[in-house]
Amino acid sequence: MTKAITDKFSRPLRDLRISVTDRCNFRCRYCMPSEIFDKYFKFLPKNDILTFEEITRLASVLANRGGVKKLRITGGEPLMRQNLSTLISMLHEIEGIDDIAMTTNGVFLPKYAEELKLAGLKRVTISLDSLNDQTFMAINDRGIGVHKVLEGIEAARQAGLDVKINMVVKRGMNEEDILPMAHFFKDTSIILRYIEYMDVGNSNGWTLDHVISKQEIFNMINKELPLEPVEPNYVGEVADRFRFKDNGQEIGIISSVTDAFCASCSRARLSADGKLVTCLFSSGGHDVRDVLRSGATDEELAAFVKSIWEKRDDRYSEERLKHTNKQQLKKIEMSHIGG
Ligand code: SAM
Ligand code: SF4
Ligand code: SF4
Repeated sequence: MTKAITDKFSRPLRDLRISVTDRCNFRCRYCMPSEIFDKYFKFLPKNDILTFEEITRLASVLANRGGVKKLRITGGEPLMRQNLSTLISMLHEIEGIDDIAMTTNGVFLPKYAEELKLAGLKRVTISLDSLNDQTFMAINDRGIGVHKVLEGIEAARQAGLDVKINMVVKRGMNEEDILPMAHFFKDTSIILRYIEYMDVGNSNGWTLDHVISKQEIFNMINKELPLEPVEPNYVGEVADRFRFKDNGQEIGIISSVTDAFCASCSRARLSADGKLVTCLFSSGGHDVRDVLRSGATDEELAAFVKSIWEKRDDRYSEERLKHTNKQQLKKIEMSHIGG
């Protein structure tokens, strides 16, 4: 087994989240507010974006020489990137990668689910924040109805992909949807995971008042649909797992704000333009594209990433409350590095 690279707190580099585009067909108010991401917004030019070959080479070097085991494709909306299944099949060839997943808003899944599965994608996490059309359209700000995502979920299932649902919960946005979502997914085999609203980037106007805590979410559901805890699948699993007492269906809550999990964070993020980012809340990344395009050998590339990871001491979420009272730090936007 390849020896993992470890950081200052002995956390291995195990997961690589690869953003394949900074563009999106949604303008979720909490992620890409349309007044900022408008028609004048400068998205990355094509030449700045890593090619499939560059992404595959980096993933392969990190799997072979760095101990990376899991890949997640994200964005922006990853399915806006042309021929994405080709990338999946290239990544699928890499020895040592156990798992390839994708996070998507689901709208393009009816078109692509089958070819993605055939290419080697195992799992999709589909984001759905409400079952109420009015609320959902207000969130995505593109007039896209809930049925579009439900069709995507169905297509993914039909194709044999393992499906999970992510619901970001924000006070004043969708707390009324917590219970309806629990009811809806309880009778499916699909795991729903609630996510505390995070202060990613600088454009979503986050305040602590917007956060509905894990405890509040749990209480709200448990009162009506009694829950019991489920053991974590593995050390470092980000979601706290529960199951409904009556039918055993699982749900999860990801408490990045009120109960941070930095101690076991083994994730690196790669932006579409090839910046390696060691924490979701970093103010910048390290330019791997330059190294990839400079003719560096695999050894040199691995050494570059190793030198970055070995210096890593990020634990933003554990220290968040120290930062929120201070002047805002500059942070990368979520649409640039994915979730
Ligand atoms: N476009 C794809 C999607 O929405 O699934 C992938 C990229 S999106 C940035 C990844 C995930 O981050 C989504 O589930 C989204 O809901 C979540 N997200 C975005 N901004 C967030 C925030 N401020 N707090 C918590 N989750 C957030
Ligand atoms: Fe797009 Fe996903 Fe951000 Fe929504 S959360 S704007 S779907 S990248
Ligand atoms: Fe990992 Fe940074 Fe999130 Fe902590 S705040 S869990 S170090 S990405």
